Amino acid sequence: MGTKIQIENLVKTFGSGKSATNAVDNLSLTIEPGDLFFLLGPSGCGKTTLLRMIAGFIDPTAGSIAFDDKVVTHDPPNKRNTGMVFQSYALWPHMTVAQNVAFGLNVRKITGKEQHDRVMEALEAVQMAEYADRKPTQLSGGQQQRVALARAIVIKPSVLLLDEPLSNLDAKLRNDLRLQIRNICKDSGITTVYVTHDQKEALSMADKVALLKKGKVIQLGTPVELYRKPKSKFVAEFLGETNLIHAQASGSASNTTLQIEAGAFSANLDNDHAGDTLVSIRPEAITLEKPGTPNTLPGRVLHSTYLGETAQHIVELKGAPNIKVAQMNPFAPTTIAPNPGDEVALHLSPTDIVPIDHD
Ligand code: ADP
Ligand code: MG
Repeated sequence: MGTKIQIENLVKTFGSGKSATNAVDNLSLTIEPGDLFFLLGPSGCGKTTLLRMIAGFIDPTAGSIAFDDKVVTHDPPNKRNTGMVFQSYALWPHMTVAQNVAFGLNVRKITGKEQHDRVMEALEAVQMAEYADRKPTQLSGGQQQRVALARAIVIKPSVLLLDEPLSNLDAKLRNDLRLQIRNICKDSGITTVYVTHDQKEALSMADKVALLKKGKVIQLGTPVELYRKPKSKFVAEFLGETNLIHAQASGSASNTTLQIEAGAFSANLDNDHAGDTLVSIRPEAITLEKPGTPNTLPGRVLHSTYLGETAQHIVELKGAPNIKVAQMNPFAPTTIAPNPGDEVALHLSPTDIVPIDHD
């Protein structure tokens, strides 16, 4: 059902001469039909510019965009059948909820019973049917954003585009709406492109994520691939906390030995590595053991923070930056609960050690 989006060598240059910048810089991407696809990256990396080129609001400087096999690169927005949701809800204050949602249907000359049925269907999808006759000013932010979503999907768009739609909402509402938006996209089968700078939003909702930096795709994959197999320091650090360790590698991919001053540890890597190697290890891939446990590195606890269901420890390790360790169940009977200054042993999960590029 959904539409396939193919973006090839897309460029958008703002300004000219010395002040020219490529907000989107020779970017290529394929978005599969029905995918909930995330454009993730820091502020200013070109997410909105790319989304607005997909919508047709910004004319690309070079490159092409195709929906299925139809090139739409320079088509105006109304020729593309996209639905868009912005950070600001942009509802018309003088219209009721139902009238706001009906707007795109009026433009398409869909009236009468069909209009009414489709408006109610869209409002039901976002759980707002009972508010049909209210004005936007009588709704909370989360409710207004759900109306904006209903207004975008009521036209049955080929592509749904969302630009930081949850940024203005508080944390609890954001969580509820994440799930609702995902369900709507998956139930309808509409190809959805979702822009955010919030890595938690991307990891928890996406089928696929493209991580952007300075107008380029740095890495593309499923949330699990990006989180567990970051290719660069930028990806590893953008998607959460990590430990970066310089080690000397020897052996073969499936049984690599990594040596630092504190000792040696083994890793299961995808490729052979020899000599100077930078590896990333997430805090939750490290466990605290009693000193002297086999296959561990000796360290000393500097600081512990208990957060209820998790604990975070900072551990000094010879030959490496201070190591962050996350314990998932810090009060379980078998878990080591150290005090600052305690000697401990670190076990590094061999399959969670990932070699990365230095940039
Ligand atoms: P993001 O949505 O990832 O925060 P944007 O796509 O809004 O990033 O912006 C990418 C870059 O392009 C930024 O450096 C921004 O300043 C620049 N930019 C965006 N829109 C314009 C514009 N209309 N004129 C000039 N520069 C722009
Ligand atoms: Mg933006």
